[in-house]
Amino acid sequence: MSDLSGKRALVTGGSRGIGAAIAQSLAKAGAEVAITYAGSADKAEAVVKAIKASGRKGVAIKADSADAAQIERGVKSAVEALGGLDILVNNAGIARAGEVETISIEDIDALLAVNVRGVVLASRAAIPHLGKGGRIVSIGSNLAERVPFPGLTIYSMTKSALLSFTRGLARELGPRGITVNMVNPGSTDTDMNPADGEMAAAQLAHNALGHFGTPDDIANMVTYLAGPQAKQITGAAFLVDGGFNA
Ligand code: NDP
Repeated sequence: MSDLSGKRALVTGGSRGIGAAIAQSLAKAGAEVAITYAGSADKAEAVVKAIKASGRKGVAIKADSADAAQIERGVKSAVEALGGLDILVNNAGIARAGEVETISIEDIDALLAVNVRGVVLASRAAIPHLGKGGRIVSIGSNLAERVPFPGLTIYSMTKSALLSFTRGLARELGPRGITVNMVNPGSTDTDMNPADGEMAAAQLAHNALGHFGTPDDIANMVTYLAGPQAKQITGAAFLVDGGFNA
C-alpha cells in the first residue's frame, strides 16, 4: 500500500463517484485532502467527514471546472488550507452523448470546457506548488483509446486529448522530479454510469470480466501512482476497464 503520510492532495470533482473514492483512498494512505465540487455541497461535506474520520485534514471547495477563475481560486484555496500541494488528481468530468451531426454546440463546449480545459487549467495552477516527488494523475476513460459506440465521439475525443497532455506534461515536468500519468476507467458504477442503467448491457457485452468496476478499483490505481513506489512511472496511461478494450 502507498504511504502518503505528509502529502497534500487536491482531487477535482471529489463529492461523488470515482473522485469521492479517490479522496478517501488518498486519506487512508495518509494524505491531507482537499476536494472540489460543482453543486453537491452536502455530498462534498460527507466526503470531508470521511476523510477526517481517517485522522486527516479534509476540505471541500466549491469550484466549477468549467470556469477558469474558479479553478484558479480552487487550487489557491487548497494550497492555503493544506499548507502546500504534492498531488493533483484531475477527476472532474462530465458525459454528454450525441452524434456529431446533431449534438448541440452547448454540449460540445461543456465537454471541452470541463474535460479538457479544466484539466489543463487545474494542472497549470497546481504546477508552481509541486516540488520534487510531485504527482499529477488525470482520470481519462477507456474511450480515450477506442470508440465502440456511435454518439460518444466528442466525449471520447476529450479523453483522447488527455493522452497527449499527459505525455507532453510528463516531459515538461520530468526534470523537476514530478510525474504525470493518466488512469483510464472502463464502466464504473457511479451516478454518471450506473451498473443498472439502460446502457449497462451494451457495455457488458465488451467487458471480459462481465461486471462493472467500482470507484475503489479506480482509486486503488490512482493511490498507487500517487505514492513513492510509482516514482519511475510517468507519461503513461493505465486501463482499469475489466478488459473492455482487450
Ligand atoms: P459522477 O458524475 O458520478 O461524479 C462527477 C464528479 O465530478 C462529482 O463530484 C461532480 O461534482 C464533479 N463535477 C462534475 N462537473 C464538475 C464541474 N464542472 N466542476 C467541478 N466538479 C464537477 O462521475 P464519475 O465519478 O463516474 O466520473 C469521474 C471521472 O471518471 C470523470 O472524469 C469521468 O469522465 C471518468 N470516467 C467515468 C467512467 C464511469 O463509467 N463512471 C468511465 C470512464 C471515465 P458535483 O457532485 O458537485 O456535481
